[in-house]
Amino acid sequence: MNVQANSWAARDIATLLHPYTDLYKQQSDGPIVMTRGQGVRVQDSDGTWYLEGMAGLWSASLGFDQPRLADAAYRQLQALPFYHIFNNRSHGPAIELAEKLLAIAPPGLARVLFSNSGSEANDAAIKLAWYYHHAIGKPAKRKIIGRMRGYHGVTIAAASATGQPANHAGFGLPLDGFLHVGSHSYWHDGEAGESEADFVARRAAELEALILREGAGTIAAFIAEPVTGGGGVFVPARGYFAAIQEVLRRHEILFIVDEVICGFGRTGTMFASEQFGLQPDMLTVAKALSASFLPISGVMLSGRIHDAMLAHGREHGVFAHGVTYAAHPVCAAVALETLKIYEETDILGHMAQVSPLLQDGLRALRDHPLVGDVRGIGLIAAVETVAEKASKTAFDPKLGVGARLQNAVLNRQVILRGLRGDALAVCPPLIIQPPEIAELIAAVRGALDEVAAELQADGHW
Ligand code: PMP
Repeated sequence: MNVQANSWAARDIATLLHPYTDLYKQQSDGPIVMTRGQGVRVQDSDGTWYLEGMAGLWSASLGFDQPRLADAAYRQLQALPFYHIFNNRSHGPAIELAEKLLAIAPPGLARVLFSNSGSEANDAAIKLAWYYHHAIGKPAKRKIIGRMRGYHGVTIAAASATGQPANHAGFGLPLDGFLHVGSHSYWHDGEAGESEADFVARRAAELEALILREGAGTIAAFIAEPVTGGGGVFVPARGYFAAIQEVLRRHEILFIVDEVICGFGRTGTMFASEQFGLQPDMLTVAKALSASFLPISGVMLSGRIHDAMLAHGREHGVFAHGVTYAAHPVCAAVALETLKIYEETDILGHMAQVSPLLQDGLRALRDHPLVGDVRGIGLIAAVETVAEKASKTAFDPKLGVGARLQNAVLNRQVILRGLRGDALAVCPPLIIQPPEIAELIAAVRGALDEVAAELQADGHW
């Protein structure tokens, strides 16, 4: 890329450290600078419009312009731009948002603890698990079990619970006491000749073996995304969560469900927990909670955990946890308005109409010679390429097939995300319309053709 002096790109290169970016390459390439948004599209500083097929970071559920959310923020900024909820202070937006969240949440969740990001919400859930076991007189229950391919964020505990080696390398993570079991992806991790039921039984046995090896008395919680996002968009194998929950219950291990991506309709129900029969002790939310217009996240916790915390508090006083911006009034007001929009526009009804167009349209790409798997549910999906279909042999990572696809799609003015394992993730705003879905799918097919031709021409395939 030719970076002009004093351009946005030049100034960016000179100043910003970018999250999840190849820092070395970024110094010569520079960024794409976005300037505005409309509907499901964003425009860059050169004037090019893109269909945002990832909803930003799996998050901008209502697209990139919503006057109601801007108005809600402005009204709150004028009324009370900031107040905290420490030390028994409160404000209307916090209370109303908590009421609304608990009203739509899966049964059994009784309180909400707010923070700013998905990572913080998961860190808070882990701390709550420790606090709970401490409160009930089992302080030795501290270990956290995550899963390979799982993603829970970047703060130290959330990153430790994450099951992706790249998130640990270079940081000396995971912390001690964070353990990982295999993923729920039958397509990826099922063994040759193994039935889906056998795969599920193997995963449950593996979890139980780990618990017995470590000692159930040392394990606090298990954390999982219902549908894994950044780790490759995996819908759980049939019966997986029923089998896992049975093991957790028997060993008195709390179940933390990370719905940071799945929450608020992404998979077709308000929470994916409903679809997969999950009974969370804690459930974390962020991203679509505020349609990504402002940062806010939360952990919802069960009545049982809350009761234990009250009993502990009676003896030991203050619950010493919380961030300055917990339930920030402007963020909370925008989140509340977001939840009203979901309800009033019947976002789930819209999802039921458009999700099959996306899922069926993408599944039609299974006949493409590069495509090994297409999977997904609701408005989240992945198209995974393979060098050889029958054996599911992956391409040499050095070929960067996922990145090539991401670029080929970008050249068609569609933003999708190339994931490790050469999958292309798709996660558009929930408000996407049928013609935009058709445009997205055509771009994926075009990109697959282009990359296939490129790999063939270079003799790699
Ligand atoms: N959990 C999941 C499932 C996520 O996808 C993410 C972010 N992609 C997080 C947690 C972390 O959220 P944040 O980036 O807001 O800290």
